Amino acid sequence: DSKFDVVIVGGGSAGIATAASILKRNAKVTIAIVDPAQDHYYQPGWTLVGAGVFKPEQTRRAEADVMPHGVTWLQVAATGFDPDRNRVELADGRTIAYQVLVAAPGLRLAWEKIAGLEDALGRGGVTSNYRYDLAPYTHRLVQQMKAGRALFSQPPMPIKCAGAPQKAMYLSCDLWRDAGVLPKIDVEFHNAGAVLFGVATYVPALMEYISAYGIDMRLESNLVAVDGQRRIATFVQTKDGATETVEREFDMLHVVPAQVSHDCVAKSPLAAASGFIDVDEATLRHKRYANVFGLGDGAGTSNAKTAAAVRQQAPVVAVNVLAALEGREPVADYDGYGSCPLTVERGKIVLAEFGYGGKLLPTFPAWLVNGTRPTRAAWFLKERMLPPLYWHAMLKGHELLASPHRIGRAA
Ligand code: FAD
Repeated sequence: DSKFDVVIVGGGSAGIATAASILKRNAKVTIAIVDPAQDHYYQPGWTLVGAGVFKPEQTRRAEADVMPHGVTWLQVAATGFDPDRNRVELADGRTIAYQVLVAAPGLRLAWEKIAGLEDALGRGGVTSNYRYDLAPYTHRLVQQMKAGRALFSQPPMPIKCAGAPQKAMYLSCDLWRDAGVLPKIDVEFHNAGAVLFGVATYVPALMEYISAYGIDMRLESNLVAVDGQRRIATFVQTKDGATETVEREFDMLHVVPAQVSHDCVAKSPLAAASGFIDVDEATLRHKRYANVFGLGDGAGTSNAKTAAAVRQQAPVVAVNVLAALEGREPVADYDGYGSCPLTVERGKIVLAEFGYGGKLLPTFPAWLVNGTRPTRAAWFLKERMLPPLYWHAMLKGHELLASPHRIGRAA
């Protein structure tokens, strides 16, 4: 079977950014990227597609067009990992060998965990910004709705971009407010978690919007079933240690599914108990296999699963991979940075930026962007700056807004 210096499984945000960062430092490294996908998505844009701000096509490129120059792309799924023999198994029956492996397959949206959901999605008022093809439907539903009940759900953690379920809700409410119909719409937020947002610093600003939009917030309320025909959503509500089942009729339902590790990882020696890739939180090196690294949504680290996190992780993994190729120990550390731009209304964002343990890690000085308050500067960043930064810098190995000081051990 063929052998490469580096095999990267997954050509999403993390896989492409890491390959580009490695090649920027050393163009001679031979890299194979394994990914069956036809297209590459800028998923952070889907929130704005759901709000009618972006066209879906702005968030998609052909996978071939984002492949870094010099990489061998194997357009096939990885089906198994054999880290004891330095090999990856592929869906077409081949295996490929590596010196160093980077596992970056993202995570799997487990739609099937909510009974009836797969049949209901995409019609009868049931939508989700977590799918490219459905985000435009969110916008259509919001535009059509003049009265009734709108439900927004958030599953148990971990999920990618933990703020996205409520972002969809705030932007919908903002459109209804402008259309003058918000007073006639009952908006409910059913969050399986016990808090509105995991880092307490940002909660007061968000609560102001919950109250201004008149949202009925229900914590520890987990969506378990959807009856698309009768338009009834079933939740399991936890209260004082007891649980009860609550049925809610709806006119519109925005769902975010539970999110799990891909089977090919979860059933492999790479998995932690959670099913995600068992890497060290700082070096992103596998805890048991010294020539394996993991990053992105598939990693079992405790950071916010975001493209912003990947922006910081990719250069760290790149320098640590190069060190590993030379038989050296990791030289760089990741601090857990992740970012969640909470779109509280069109034109304003609460820019949550934090690392491991909820430590605040603002990129900008507070006079420019005060992350604990809604700001126009943060919206400008999200709408105008971050997409080009993603396509033209992050995916090309130009490490803008990926602060060198985060490469802790003198790269
Ligand atoms: P992905 O980009 O999902 O890529 C995974 C890749 O692996 C895919 O190309 C897939 O085809 C491939 N793959 C899967 N299985 C296999 C296999 N078996 N073999 C080979 N290849 C495989 N982040 C932010 O920073 N800010 C935001 O505002 C934001 N908002 C978001 C809003 C929504 C609605 C969503 C869905 C996400 C949002 N994110 C946001 C999160 C961000 O998109 C992800 O964190 C990021 O894409 C993670 O990168 P990744 O490479 O790990 O996974």
